[in-house]
Amino acid sequence: MTELRDLYQEVIMDHNRNPRNYGCLQEASHFAEGFNPLCGDQLKLYLYINDSNTIEDVSFEGQGCAISTASASIMTEILLGLGLNEAKQYFHAFCALAIGENKHLESDVDLGKLEVLKGVSEYPARVKCATLAWHTLQAALKGEKEPAKTE
Ligand code: ZN
Repeated sequence: MTELRDLYQEVIMDHNRNPRNYGCLQEASHFAEGFNPLCGDQLKLYLYINDSNTIEDVSFEGQGCAISTASASIMTEILLGLGLNEAKQYFHAFCALAIGENKHLESDVDLGKLEVLKGVSEYPARVKCATLAWHTLQAALKGEKEPAKTE
């Protein structure tokens, strides 16, 4: 079990060191900011959603702890090419995973890489770091002007 945890840690550290899809997206159709005051994590999320409601491009910028950066990085990898309905399913499935409720969830969403963040459910403060990117996604899809906050 310790080994498994170390492995997960490695994935998180890797995404933190080399965040995927990092940077600003010039042609973004959707954008939102997120802020987790508890930890100080800040996030900007850019999406390009095409006419058939598919996420054609996605990127993020931000400053935050390893968990928030890794979570955002993994999220962008997953979102690329997804339809909006699928993206929403992932949002619900991931939030359930992060608070340790996924066992009761009837969902056929394959969380795949997101499973590495499962460990945060044991640390309530960390849950907010892990879900910040996803709340920011929600805000972007709803077109909210105010930054998404975890508090
Ligand atoms: Zn954090």
